[in-house]
Amino acid sequence: MPELPEVETIRRELHALLPLKIKEVIAGKYLDTFLDPKGLIKSLANSVLFDLERKGKYLFWHVHLSSKNKNTKYLLSHLGMSGRWLLHSDIAHLAAHTHLTLSLIPVSPADPTQLPLPIYLSYIDPRRFGKIALLSAQEFLIIKNNLGIDALSTELTTEYLSTIIEKYPRRSIKKILLDQHLIAGIGNYLASETLARAGIHPLRNGKDIKAVEIPKLKTALFRALTVSLRRQGVSFDGAYKNTHGEEGSALNKLVVFRQEYCGICKVNKVVKIFQDGRGSYFCPHCQK
Ligand SMILES: [Zn+2]
Repeated sequence: MPELPEVETIRRELHALLPLKIKEVIAGKYLDTFLDPKGLIKSLANSVLFDLERKGKYLFWHVHLSSKNKNTKYLLSHLGMSGRWLLHSDIAHLAAHTHLTLSLIPVSPADPTQLPLPIYLSYIDPRRFGKIALLSAQEFLIIKNNLGIDALSTELTTEYLSTIIEKYPRRSIKKILLDQHLIAGIGNYLASETLARAGIHPLRNGKDIKAVEIPKLKTALFRALTVSLRRQGVSFDGAYKNTHGEEGSALNKLVVFRQEYCGICKVNKVVKIFQDGRGSYFCPHCQK
């Protein structure tokens, strides 16, 4: 499932192309049933995408409904388990499981005497757990404010980490890290990587985390994020690809997640356990 580094990679690639005008919206047969029950996406023809922000694992395009109507709406995208956005120039052959294709043209073409060529941006999602929705400013703020502090934000201080860990003394530290209402953007692989780099066992509860370990946890999280971001994210089981259809290359730089040997001590075998129904990877030697 795409986590913060994968979603941020997509955001950076798409943000570089803005502003873009939507010339046409081409809906796949499952768009209404799975992704957009209100049917609002189809009304986006002629609107302008002028900004793209991310919080946690959510992307929010800022949209003007036309070049004249400067009322801002927000196009939400959550990739779920297997969602991705793909840029392409050929509309004749859409990838399997394409649910939505936007035909886009630059708002200010480099050469105004030439008709700008459309580029196509498709949303592909084999398992269809993703979400796309057009939101009002109010709906956008409710969703955004419901999320905790973004894992990459400078607002994620050791004080904040201490507060949330103290608040849930009987929850495992891994579960605290995964709670999107507390910290937004961490999923299963980032939680495993963060705890490994901090030397903290994933089954330990909030009350057992010592004050001295909290700065280590913060540094470990930042390091785990940076390792992934630099390599355009982590791909495994073919799920995540960037907007050019390429896999991220961070998997072999991870220290425990889906690794045979621990990348910290380089000696001990990584152990996988099931914790709250999901795989937790850790090194019994490095993580106490
Ligand atoms: Zn180790």
